Amino acid sequence: MARVTLEHVTKQYEDVTAVDDMNLEIEDGEFVCLVGPSGCGKSTTMETIAGLTKPTDGTISIGELDVTKLPPKDRGVAMVFQNIALFPHMDVYDNISFGLRLRDYDTDEIDRRVERATEIVQLDGMLDRMPDEMSGGQRQRVAIARAIVRNPDVFLMDEPLANLDAKLRVHMRTELQRLHKELDTTIIYVTHDQAEAMTMSDRIAVINAGELQQIDPPLVCYNEPSNLFVAGFIGSPSMNFVEGELVDNGLQTGSFHIEFDTSSLVGVSVGDPVTLGIRPEDVYLVDRGRDIAAPTKPIPVETDVLEPMGNEVFVYLRVGDSGGRSMAEAEERGATSGPTGQLLMSLDSDTEIMEDQAVEVVLDRTNLHLFDADSGQALVHGIETLGRSGLGEGTTQTGAETDT
Ligand code: ADP
Repeated sequence: MARVTLEHVTKQYEDVTAVDDMNLEIEDGEFVCLVGPSGCGKSTTMETIAGLTKPTDGTISIGELDVTKLPPKDRGVAMVFQNIALFPHMDVYDNISFGLRLRDYDTDEIDRRVERATEIVQLDGMLDRMPDEMSGGQRQRVAIARAIVRNPDVFLMDEPLANLDAKLRVHMRTELQRLHKELDTTIIYVTHDQAEAMTMSDRIAVINAGELQQIDPPLVCYNEPSNLFVAGFIGSPSMNFVEGELVDNGLQTGSFHIEFDTSSLVGVSVGDPVTLGIRPEDVYLVDRGRDIAAPTKPIPVETDVLEPMGNEVFVYLRVGDSGGRSMAEAEERGATSGPTGQLLMSLDSDTEIMEDQAVEVVLDRTNLHLFDADSGQALVHGIETLGRSGLGEGTTQTGAETDT
């Protein structure tokens, strides 16, 4: 077990800054996922920790030791990669024990460690199997056992489940959580799959374009994303974004008005462009919305496409005009997705609803996020805490408030 610290780590490849001034502190025994889109610098960050890549700048410490200049073998780390490179001509025992035999460990010690590792990954009784006699999941477990026998201070895992089928991936997620509990060791895990990160980690480090965006427990990233990028990346389906403008008594979009007291918002003033963020599960049909504590005034919309998912149904909604700024502009400032002039709502699958139906929806004010549209930084999570300004909110075609 060991704490891993990155201080101002930068990795420059000619004209690409793969990692940009990364500061990370991963606690002893923590399971941290590095998550972000392909090419954002996750693997490069991991490789600098493993010692496979030398950072252009910055320092890396494992425990109390500055390992920036140490070779991989002296860092106390073990890596598990996406491509499970087992020796095809060796059986499970020989594959797992290969590193130990290379280092001249005595046979009893090797047997003891292999036995414990195979027990942990539940491969007992399979020691004489050859790799081609095993499933993908079993081979991945051999690779993990090979890392375990080295008693590393830190496990580094780079998309270890990416090549497994969907069902096995979900199963292996649980196994890795169990493994973490049993070994009580530090695990740093790279994935582009936000669901994998959400389900396994103590904390998620969200990375975009080489820069750390946020490092927090999964639910904090979900409920209090620090900026538009994190808000759009964490959660599936993605958060809805609607462009608007801060007005005296709230937010005015192209088609509706949300009322709140703007005076306590820091860093923005009336007239500034603001992006509203709302998750699909926080959009309600007006009747259901009466059950929630703080609904907005009703917003008239029209249903578009329905996507039945079994336990819920996703409903795309057409919402008047999309507002002052296009979603393409919001994406430029960090939002990863989101429709223009459209909201996605998730409903219980037994809700009676059809395509092309005029309905009214309300948004849950306690889960409504506001972002500075220029910088993408979060302004507030839950506008109910800001209070209401005393004027009415409601729908409008012209930009003037009309209390409905
Ligand atoms: P991720 O793991 O998030 O997909 P990587 O860390 O692999 O991203 O890559 C980050 C960026 O650095 C990408 O733009 C990639 O093309 C670039 N990169 C990675 N390795 C090299 C290399 N050896 N030479 C040049 N560019 C590289």
